[in-house]
Amino acid sequence: MLRNNLTFIFIFSAVFAAFSQKISKLPEYKLSQAEVEAHLRFLASDEMLGRRTGEITNNVAARYIAEQFRLSGVKTVSGQTDYLQKVPLEFSKGSKTGEIYAGRDTLKLGKDFMMLSGKAAKLQNIPVVFVGYGWIDESQNDYKDVDVKGKIVVCQFGIPNNDKPFENMTGSTQKAKFAAENGALALVQVYNLNFPFASIVRNFGGERLMAASVFNADIPHLWINSSYIKQFSKEMLPSLSLNVGEVVKKPAPAYNVVGVIEGTDPKLKNEYVVLSAHFDHIGAGKNYGKVTESDTIFNGTRDNAIGTTALLTAAKAFSAQKPKRSILLIGYTGEELGMLGSRYYAENPLVPLKQCVFNLNSDGAGYNDSTKVTIIGLNRTDAEGEIVTASKAFGIEAINDPVPEQNLFDRSDNVSLAVKGIPAPNMSPGLTAFDAEIGKYYHQAADNPENVSMGYLTKFCKVYIYSARLIANKATAPKWKSGDKYEKVGQELYGK
Ligand SMILES: [Zn+2]
Repeated sequence: MLRNNLTFIFIFSAVFAAFSQKISKLPEYKLSQAEVEAHLRFLASDEMLGRRTGEITNNVAARYIAEQFRLSGVKTVSGQTDYLQKVPLEFSKGSKTGEIYAGRDTLKLGKDFMMLSGKAAKLQNIPVVFVGYGWIDESQNDYKDVDVKGKIVVCQFGIPNNDKPFENMTGSTQKAKFAAENGALALVQVYNLNFPFASIVRNFGGERLMAASVFNADIPHLWINSSYIKQFSKEMLPSLSLNVGEVVKKPAPAYNVVGVIEGTDPKLKNEYVVLSAHFDHIGAGKNYGKVTESDTIFNGTRDNAIGTTALLTAAKAFSAQKPKRSILLIGYTGEELGMLGSRYYAENPLVPLKQCVFNLNSDGAGYNDSTKVTIIGLNRTDAEGEIVTASKAFGIEAINDPVPEQNLFDRSDNVSLAVKGIPAPNMSPGLTAFDAEIGKYYHQAADNPENVSMGYLTKFCKVYIYSARLIANKATAPKWKSGDKYEKVGQELYGK
């Protein structure tokens, strides 16, 4: 027994020594706190005014990341001349007043209905036509055999056979194009989702920044609260009148930042491990949250200058010592406004998605335990072992999602690639619960670079990079664990 034990201790010590020697040669091991602190203090400085998407400081942050990539020796993606990927967004500003006259009722803009797009229009006693969903695709054409020329088209809300609220909302912009192409004068959708109409008006009416629509139509596109649906039954209401102003749209320049580090293995370099983090935050001033007399800036140190710093330090470490697989680095814009940057990237990838075998995103609300890192989706892919090992190497415990009921996995940029099939967990600093410590800083003006532990965050970056390195050098690419809700789409993507 004793002898065996000694042998075991001897072997263990030898392996451990070899292991720690190996790590100590890696650039992430040597990562200095000053470097982490410099990135963090720049990105989360007051001068950056909260990096809000659509504002110039968001583009300054993108520029900073791009030039850091250049400095590290990161290359632009093949076929690209720049690190910046333009994300077409637009400011949309509706008019404040407008009416629909339905029988004896007058419906008010902003209360009973809202206008999503279109030019100003004054329409008097225009015949109404019902067209189901007002949808056209390979299997369905709601305009077949219906004459809508010179009429107001009324339809059910959303897209047929689709129960995803977000897709129903954004996808419905295509319907205005269908209506206009068929000669209608206006499109009215009857809103009936299980989400209060007042909140919809707050989020989609008024002034907002959104993905630029590729389906532009000049006819008024209106959403009306379903409590008025009775007014729109054919018998009761043969015609409508309306008076609405223009929804003015103005392009807003925003960019993702994308760079690549080619792997060393002749075969595996055709596979990419995607490292990503959003760099935008919510801005400055009382329009975006609670401010105090002395602090009006939402610095977004934790959310997400930390993740962006992890991305920048990874860029440098992997350029200095390349792994077997290639590394694709992406800084996303627009996360706080609805994952606009990552959603755009997923639809317009610069490297074919099926070559991207894994995505380790870094985003977080903050941390309350600096002995841990929290991985949303740790146990959902078989990169779990690599992440646990990498954390241990720096004396950190890797823990899984502490609040699965909050569905955090589907609430950050990692989900944009996950829905395409790419195994994509999210790594955040140690979060064990959404407690008062998290609430004190999460999306608060107090989220300043002065009140984080730079020592801990340096370790966090090391864990992030080393995890990615172990995954990028792994013999076989990690997969979704069997039974995961994204397993099937993963199999479709990779053709297995
Ligand atoms: Zn975030």
